[in-house]
Amino acid sequence: MNSYDSNRILESVSDTHKKVVNPEEADVIVFNTCHIREKAAEKIYSEVGKIAELKKNNKNLKLVVAGCVAQAEGKVMRMRQPNIDLVIGPQMYHDFPILLNSEKEKSKLVLDFNNEEKFSRLGTKRSSASLSSFLTIQEGCNKFCSFCVVPFTRGAEYSRSVLDLVSETKQLVLRGCKELILLGQNVNAYHGQDINGKEVSLAQLIIELEKIPGVERISYTTSHPKDMAQDLIELHGYSKKLNPYLHLPVQSGSDRILKNMNRKYDTKRYMEIIEEVRKHCPDIALSSDFIVGYPGETNEDFRKTIDLIKAVGFSQAYSFKYSSRPGTKASRIENNIDLEEANNRLYEMQDLLNEQQKSFNSKFINSTQEVFFKGRGKKEGQIRASTRWMQTVNFYEKTSFIDKGNVKIIKAKGNSLLGEMR
Ligand code: SAH
Ligand code: SF4
Repeated sequence: MNSYDSNRILESVSDTHKKVVNPEEADVIVFNTCHIREKAAEKIYSEVGKIAELKKNNKNLKLVVAGCVAQAEGKVMRMRQPNIDLVIGPQMYHDFPILLNSEKEKSKLVLDFNNEEKFSRLGTKRSSASLSSFLTIQEGCNKFCSFCVVPFTRGAEYSRSVLDLVSETKQLVLRGCKELILLGQNVNAYHGQDINGKEVSLAQLIIELEKIPGVERISYTTSHPKDMAQDLIELHGYSKKLNPYLHLPVQSGSDRILKNMNRKYDTKRYMEIIEEVRKHCPDIALSSDFIVGYPGETNEDFRKTIDLIKAVGFSQAYSFKYSSRPGTKASRIENNIDLEEANNRLYEMQDLLNEQQKSFNSKFINSTQEVFFKGRGKKEGQIRASTRWMQTVNFYEKTSFIDKGNVKIIKAKGNSLLGEMR
């Protein structure tokens, strides 16, 4: 979502500014920050400190801190680092062009919540797109999981209208997009209005977006199990454009921990959803997020999570060590889990998840897959692309491959595939 927002920020000043490669060339530097875990938030202070040095050589340089760290710690941030010219929260980017040139003191800390205004003022006009483009359809969250800062930094749930999303999609397609990645902190809680003012579900929105000529693939992320509606599950069975991929974070396999986390589902319900999704789309790639070491997590709770992972079989997953976040309910509970124990749980889980990812990927060896260009690979001359199951494929191609093509999969590596152009 920050990547989507960064592009919108850039586009909002495209009349007066252009993107540069090196910070030394810039007159404006925007840090778009993430507050979800402590590690992400910590980085920003040292980075801002380093970049602030550039002000010595460029008196016009403006430093802006945007995103969720700005929202959560904006005031402290400006006190700690007076070189920051503007601190702007994620719901106020529509005012970025005005604020950038304002000298008023109150224009230096802008942290209101105004999602509706944000999207209506940023509009649906897009000046650039990539083959796979992000499209924010929903923002904010009303769920208040005990560990999470999102409801505090992104505010209440807001869904954009179908008309706006259709219009932005057409703009993206005109500029070369063929794959839409629909974004929301709770993307399947989407309930935007159609032109008659009637609320539509995520499945209904996807059906509308699929009709737009040029859209070839659609994914959505991140879904919450509580909002996994039947029409969306069934859409995976008959949609020609929806990717066979579902990121559905479970967080823990222990009902006791899920209850303490305020997740609003239990493992039985999660497993029912998985079964139902697989009934409609047997080859679906299933992905999840996990938190280990949540306050009070016993070894028995952890074993239940391992059992759930074994029962599902994920194609990939993200796993995190619990990080106490200011203002959340969980931050007030004493965390008695030993750091070494939490690390050991995380490593054991990651080993299992890596094994499952490799086994999922291995099934693709010798098959030919249509892949979409994502960027340059890590190795010289390598191209990075992605399959419909959201796997990364690296391959060598001498001519300029910038779109899509068919690749034969020759090897399954840890978290990627190796292919050769057909
Ligand atoms: N809305 C999504 C998740 C958004 S946050 C959902 O409800 O599933 C992305 C992921 O970051 C979460 O799924 C969780 O695994 C992780 N996360 C959030 N807060 C965290 C914390 N305090 N410590 C560790 N991981 C956290
Ligand atoms: Fe955070 Fe997701 Fe829970 Fe909302 S549903 S509070 S975004 S973890």
